[in-house]
Order: sequence, then C-alpha cells, then structure tokens
Amino acid sequence: MKYLFGPVNSRRLGLSQGIDVLPAKICNFNCIYCEVGATTRHTCDRQEYSPTKEILDEIDTLLAGEHPPIDVFTITASGEPTLHSGLGSIINHIKHTTNKPVVILTNGSLLHIAEIRSELMAADIVIPSLDSAREESFRKINRPAKCVQLADIISGLCSFSREFPGKIWLEILLVKGINDSDADIAALVETTRKIRPDRIQLNTVVRPPLESYAAPMTEHELKKIARQFAGQIEIIADFAKRKRHHLRSAAEPEILDMLKRRPCTAPDICEALNLDLDQVEILLNKLLRNTTLTSITHAGKIYYQTHSENTVT
Ligand code: SF4
Repeated sequence: MKYLFGPVNSRRLGLSQGIDVLPAKICNFNCIYCEVGATTRHTCDRQEYSPTKEILDEIDTLLAGEHPPIDVFTITASGEPTLHSGLGSIINHIKHTTNKPVVILTNGSLLHIAEIRSELMAADIVIPSLDSAREESFRKINRPAKCVQLADIISGLCSFSREFPGKIWLEILLVKGINDSDADIAALVETTRKIRPDRIQLNTVVRPPLESYAAPMTEHELKKIARQFAGQIEIIADFAKRKRHHLRSAAEPEILDMLKRRPCTAPDICEALNLDLDQVEILLNKLLRNTTLTSITHAGKIYYQTHSENTVT
C-alpha cells in the first residue's frame, strides 16, 4: 500500500488505520519541532497532490481483504492534509463504505476557507493545532508561509467550532523558551475560550525535532500550565509508557513502514504495533547492521529511522 499505513495503536484513538494523503513534505508551515523533516513545498496552494482514485482504491482493497478490527481511520499527511483537494472525497468514501469514525489531523491553518470547513463536516473528530495566539511566537515556532495569517487561523477555528457537529480536540505543542512565556500562555487561554474545543491536548517535543534548539517542556511545567486552561484538558506528551499486554512477535515490514514515516524509539514501536520489546530490539539491531536503518540520539533516547524522507505530520 502506498497511502495506507498501520494500523497503529494510538492512545487517543485506539487501533488507527492511517492514510497519508500527500506524496512529500508539502506544508504551509515549517515547524521547528516537525518530525517529518524540512518542508520541501511551502505553499497554500490546494491541489490533487496524490491521485485521489488510488487512495480510494487502497481503502477498498483493505476493506475487501482480511484486516485487524480497526477502531478509526485517521487521515494525516507528510505535511498538511487539507492542502489535498481530494480530502472531502476521501472522507465521504470512508463514511459511505464503513461505519468507522474518521479522524483528521490538521495544522488548522486553512479552516477560514468555507469550502474546506464544509469538506470536514462529514468527519467525526478533527484534531487541529494552535501552538501560539501571539504573532511573534507563532512565527518562531510554526514558520508559516507568507500566505498564512494568524488572525485567519483563529477566526477559522472559531467558525469551525460553531459549525462542526463532531468533536474538536485542539492540540497545543509547547517548546521551551519559544511559545511558553506567561504572555503566550495567557493569549492561548483567552483564545481557546473563544474557540471552545471539546478537549485541549497539551504536548511538547518528544521525537527528534527538525531544529535541535526545539527543546521539550518537563511534565511538571506542562501540568502547571494545564491548570490555567478552562474545560477538558489533557497532557498527551508520553512521559511514561503504559503497560502493554497481548504482545505479538516483531514483524519487519510493519516496523519499516512505520519508520519510513517518522523516527521512533524501540518502545514507541512496541507501543504502536503491540510488539514484544526484546524481539523488536533484536530486529532493529539486525536492520542497523545491514544498514537498512540508521539511529540518532535525542534527549537521551535512541531513535531509529530509514533512509527515506517520507514521514507523517
Ligand atoms: S508539524 Fe505538521 S504543520 Fe508543522 S511543518 Fe510538520 S507537517 Fe507541517
């Protein structure tokens, strides 16, 4: 499969069947914490970057064959998925052919466009990001293309929240010294009151970032900040690994497919694919030895990656 990946175990969503709708790192942001790599096409142009028909065919092939009991379809991208003009068709196709919820991960920057809001209406959960409500830190952390305006993003999120019948889980990723000042947090608290998402999810840099200066917050700092927000708020940065049960044996193609999309630690792989850690480590060492994989160290953890640049948002 070229566009479908996983399914992976997601703490937030259950067993999630991923769909990557872009062929490369096409985004209107170039976030300092991005785990995909540098944006190669910094644009707000909406186009059919991948053949929508091929994506729909892959979904049909998956559904026609034997597949694990998927909880949700999650549409994401090696960049920003709402830039793909076939997004609405993909959502509608899944809703017409399955009874599974559809989740969209987006940087939220194009929600001021009525056509895009309308396409997303058929989804069940939309997880947009808003890392800053102040111009200076917004530009520092997200490094948007010239076509992106912070005021449009905030008004788009407010409009979408009023119109969308499903759930909105707003993700805020904090980077130490970049968007965590008292003024930044106060602006986010005020803006999220206007947006009124169903949940706010606080995150920080947990995987190797694009820029080495993008430093993580501590769990203590995130907890302190979380107390300032109204409504339902949770910290989604994975500071402690959950216990896993019913482990399966490591499967090389699944692991390589996952690492093609983003660098992961051995425990990340075990968590996402429900695999046994000892076996995963043996397999990773073999793949390092035969140079299929490389490893890098970030924040004291070893991350494995393929030589491919193709990763997800
Ligand atoms: S984190 Fe998401 S929005 Fe930011 S540059 Fe990467 S793909 Fe784009």
